[in-house]
Amino acid sequence: MLQMLPSCECCDRDLPPDSAEARICSFECTWCAPCAEQCLGGVCPNCGGSMVPRPPRASALLDTHPASTERVHQPGLHRGA
Ligand SMILES: [Zn+2]
Ligand SMILES: [Zn+2]
Repeated sequence: MLQMLPSCECCDRDLPPDSAEARICSFECTWCAPCAEQCLGGVCPNCGGSMVPRPPRASALLDTHPASTERVHQPGLHRGA
């Protein structure tokens, strides 16, 4: 099951499970669209993989399969690269 992180790892903005702004890589590193496109150039700084839009989880499934609440924040990870 996809681990849905609640926030962007770069800027820590909230990315709710139904957000159209969320981007993920194959390792489920999670970023917002502006960071993914403008700061990170579409490449995950953690693993070097490409990022794709994260599919929203149907709200009916969030009751039984809630999104992760564990925030991952790695500010400055990509700066200077
Ligand atoms: Zn961000
Ligand atoms: Zn990654």
